[in-house]
Amino acid sequence: MTFTNRTALVTGAGRGIGKAIAEKLAASGVTVICVSKSAESCGAVAAAITAAGGKAVARAVDVSDGAAVALASAELLKEFGKIDILVNNAGITRDGLLARMSDDDWNAVLQTNLNSCFYWTKAIGWPMCRNRWGRIINISSVTGIMGNAGQANYGAAKAGMIGFTKSIAKEFAKRGVTANVVAPGFIKTDMTAELSEEVQKGATALIPMQRFGEAADIANAVAFLSAEESSYVTGQVFAVDGGMAM
Ligand code: NAP
Repeated sequence: MTFTNRTALVTGAGRGIGKAIAEKLAASGVTVICVSKSAESCGAVAAAITAAGGKAVARAVDVSDGAAVALASAELLKEFGKIDILVNNAGITRDGLLARMSDDDWNAVLQTNLNSCFYWTKAIGWPMCRNRWGRIINISSVTGIMGNAGQANYGAAKAGMIGFTKSIAKEFAKRGVTANVVAPGFIKTDMTAELSEEVQKGATALIPMQRFGEAADIANAVAFLSAEESSYVTGQVFAVDGGMAM
């Protein structure tokens, strides 16, 4: 994959999939801005990348806070001159059957998983358009494609990311900026470690490959969609799920 003098911002880079994406892009020569909620987690990832010879900085930003995202984006664009690759990966779950789902559980998931994409893309997407080059990759989920009982909030947010991405892909296409979705299936991270053994067993049965994926599987897809070589790919939903959503 070819990356020439590129800078990426990866949200949720403190752990799991976001960490693997930050590491993969940095290993490909990209300067990476690692964003997470806590300064400790993104700081540790940026420090490890730097220690390994890559270029990374850390920035703690609550992605659900529109004003904080606008402020951080303006500061980072000033500091780095440009951000070429935006990976909206930060996400949470607050699972529960609809009858018992509180307004808080609904709003927190929509705010963190979907509205955050709007905040970052609005702030960073237009400067990309002015530069006539950009890559936006939004990390959705197979739940946004297939639905999942107990995840009405998460499924709505993840399906929303797909409609959002296709719309901005059409808006930005003439300006050299692509926007795509990566939809992971079940991936081994802290998020899935929370699931009971029984749920993990049930999930595995739904996966043609009969196993959970690794965070690196998602990072590999993101690397392609971030690189020069994917310049004619936009508005697509790329499932990385062991065949689960086909
Ligand atoms: P994870 O291990 O729980 O890590 C989540 C990351 O997001 C952490 O770095 C966390 O920051 C950050 N984050 C959460 N809320 C935030 C906020 N308000 N502001 C800033 N950062 C915030 O999750 P994961 O499994 O890697 O999942 C990453 C993405 O992939 C999510 O969008 C998830 O929905 C999606 N996904 C995951 C799976 C899976 O099987 N794991 C499947 C489908 C889709 P801290 O480090 O500071 O806590």
